[in-house]
Amino acid sequence: MTLNLLDYDLERLTGLITDLGEKPFRARQLLKWIHQYGADDFASMTDLAKAFRERLAGVAGVLPPELLRHSVASDGTQKWLLSAGGGNAVEVVFIPEQERGTLCVSSQVGCAMACTFCSTGRQGLNRNLTAGEILGQLWWANKALGAVHKRDRAVSNVVFMGMGEPLLNLDNVIPALHVMLDDHAYGLSRRRVTVSTSGIVPNMDRLREECPVALAVSLHAPNDGLRDELVPVNRKYPLRELMAACRRYLEAAESTDSASPAARKWQRAGAPRDFITFEYVLLDGVNDHPRHARELVAVTEDVPCKFNLIPFNPFPHSGYTRSAPDAVRRFRDILGQAGRIATVRRTRGDDIDAACGQLAGRVRERTRRLAAETTR
Ligand code: SF4
Repeated sequence: MTLNLLDYDLERLTGLITDLGEKPFRARQLLKWIHQYGADDFASMTDLAKAFRERLAGVAGVLPPELLRHSVASDGTQKWLLSAGGGNAVEVVFIPEQERGTLCVSSQVGCAMACTFCSTGRQGLNRNLTAGEILGQLWWANKALGAVHKRDRAVSNVVFMGMGEPLLNLDNVIPALHVMLDDHAYGLSRRRVTVSTSGIVPNMDRLREECPVALAVSLHAPNDGLRDELVPVNRKYPLRELMAACRRYLEAAESTDSASPAARKWQRAGAPRDFITFEYVLLDGVNDHPRHARELVAVTEDVPCKFNLIPFNPFPHSGYTRSAPDAVRRFRDILGQAGRIATVRRTRGDDIDAACGQLAGRVRERTRRLAAETTR
């Protein structure tokens, strides 16, 4: 089987290269060729010895996901549909702004978390993406944006807010993060890479220990009763446990002897931001009442945080509608009066279905089908 070098962070690539009898520094050269120059054939890697390139080609390749479609919205937002095999696909969205370019990536094909307001959640989970499939999204975006061969890349920020729950795929998300942060690859700052979770408490601790980056939590409700309904994982990790995990995340992580040298390097750094971003989709008549805003202030009292209020993007049969602009303003003002920073996310890319909660891709759902088959 051909190894996919997009799956490899520097540590693993160094192991592979030395197994092939080459000097470790060749791994850094390879990372640069693949991620900074967007190379996918060894012939173009001219500063590597021909014999080594031939040996490498015998066991490995650079195998990005197949590009199915590329669309550009009138506001400059771009979307790529990438194949995930077996009739499945994931979407990647690039949002250009004055000061930055943000890429929204997926970590799974579909999602098992079943948040009721999310179109991905309605599709169920098919499978985890590999590290190479996660990095392939950034690789394609840089190539399509003409940002290879240059140091000033179009993608300055990455957010794991597409399909999937990244903290349920940490074995692939963590090596992908290593490559995003590595100066020999994308060289992104840890403050500019955000992982978003619905609240998988033990894995928040693992991310903090192994590769702390900026953290966003999909909150969407200010009390357990409502959150149990909107974000079902709350029944397993209720708000009290979630808030405690948020506080722990912001504490400096400590190195453990069992960690690999690469992991220890990131651990020493601690959390890159001194706040958690709480995401809150406003659903008309469900979670947008002033009393919900006041409850939200109380429940997050001990967590340094910012709020990102997201106008709901309706999809067929969702059963929800978007909150009225007045309700959104009132909600934001109550948070503001309590001294909290709250911004309302602008909706981008509406005309190509690239807005939040619309990154549906194509998923052949397996979880419920498998469960149904085993109970038959
Ligand atoms: S909001 Fe996020 S965690 Fe919840 S179902 Fe959608 S993709 Fe999954």
